[in-house]
Amino acid sequence: MKLQTKDYLEICPGCLACYNQGRLTFYWFRLNKETTLKQIEAALDIEEIHKRAKTPYACGGDEVHIQDNDFNGGEYMTAKEIYGYVKLLRLVPSFDYVRAFKEIYLMNDEFEWFEASDMFKRFAEDVMTFDSDREFNTHLEDIFTETHGINDDQNPLLNPLINYIQWDAVVRDMKMDWEEVEISGTTYAWRKL
Ligand SMILES: [Zn+2]
Repeated sequence: MKLQTKDYLEICPGCLACYNQGRLTFYWFRLNKETTLKQIEAALDIEEIHKRAKTPYACGGDEVHIQDNDFNGGEYMTAKEIYGYVKLLRLVPSFDYVRAFKEIYLMNDEFEWFEASDMFKRFAEDVMTFDSDREFNTHLEDIFTETHGINDDQNPLLNPLINYIQWDAVVRDMKMDWEEVEISGTTYAWRKL
């Protein structure tokens, strides 16, 4: 069964001082397309974190530590960086698209997303989703037959050749020009940027 696509991201703002003293002071905060920078700043406020985590603010700490998140983000993301993700989310149907992009391009936690990059914009325009790898392969086969005019209507002379094509090899070669990521049972595919 296909998992339902999530339309939100979650981060877990925590208190670094508490963490260093062996106490887990954190809570889960959910981001969606409407989340504002102000709301994120409030969510990362050190007193707010203690209040939400129901831990007395006795540690004297003032550093926020993102103890967990569900999109491979860093431990020390600022409110502005996190808001950068919200800006990306506004360009795609769901947050899984951002996860897919990040699987390939963002290995670097220091990366700052104050605005969507041109690369992300191109990705957002280009990316397609498939229910299975098989469905993606079929799409590539269709592109191949169209590009080479080997389909029923276009070229009756070439048409018989279709029976001799090594589809595995065709698909394998074509995939060299594509990125492919599976998130929650859905295949995200786009031409290499
Ligand atoms: Zn604390």
